[in-house]
Amino acid sequence: MRIDIITLFPEMFAPVMGESIIGRAQKSGAVEIVCHQLRDYAFDKHRRVDDTPYGGGMGMLMKAEPIALCFEDICEKLGERPHFVYMSPQGRTLNQGRLRELAELENICILCGHYEGVDQRLLDAFIDEEISIGDYVLTGGEIPAMVFADALCRMVPGVLTNNECFTEESHFNGLLEYPQYTKPSVWRGVEVPEVLLSGHHANIDKWRKEKAYEITLSKRPDLIDKSS
Ligand code: SAM
Repeated sequence: MRIDIITLFPEMFAPVMGESIIGRAQKSGAVEIVCHQLRDYAFDKHRRVDDTPYGGGMGMLMKAEPIALCFEDICEKLGERPHFVYMSPQGRTLNQGRLRELAELENICILCGHYEGVDQRLLDAFIDEEISIGDYVLTGGEIPAMVFADALCRMVPGVLTNNECFTEESHFNGLLEYPQYTKPSVWRGVEVPEVLLSGHHANIDKWRKEKAYEITLSKRPDLIDKSS
């Protein structure tokens, strides 16, 4: 999968996306993350990427044309049009189900807004989907884009050692994950549940399923309602 990111702050990405699992995935070629500096596409007299909103009001808006030029350049370089996502608090809230669908795509382009947002005409003409990372407002789309890209990349084959890493996890099948324990088997007097030391895989599996259901019921009963 290739993810192109249009942003005013491309330097924010490498320290996060260049490390750990996603950093390794980029080195191995399983995923490619390419950041584009939007200012490089501001060709008007003052090379501006933002301006004041018509009708008055607080703050600045990102102009349509630099974003359009940047996206068209990406399309030309790729030789195809990627699915174009705008990170926005007005979008559909991201969840594992939508991530599963989007992880099937070869190319995704993410637009990070800033200031008060983006000229509506650009959104209407170019954007395929608006995605929110929750019902609150951040200063810019860079952190939401990193959240989205990280969650996408870890579902791409070859990024995690084994697909079970995510198919067993919270939200994949509509439930939260069962509790997990590591060594020592007794920590400050508290023992690991006996069944996990038994080596009996069928019993362990049954215990995990029961615990996943119990935990979901106590922490997120709304998920049980949705799946039933
Ligand atoms: N004026 C906009 C509104 O009320 O809908 C909010 C603009 S916000 C200050 C600046 C940028 O941050 C947005 O354009 C978007 O890209 C990003 N952003 C803020 N909160 C977000 C969220 N919850 N999910 C995704 N992106 C978000």
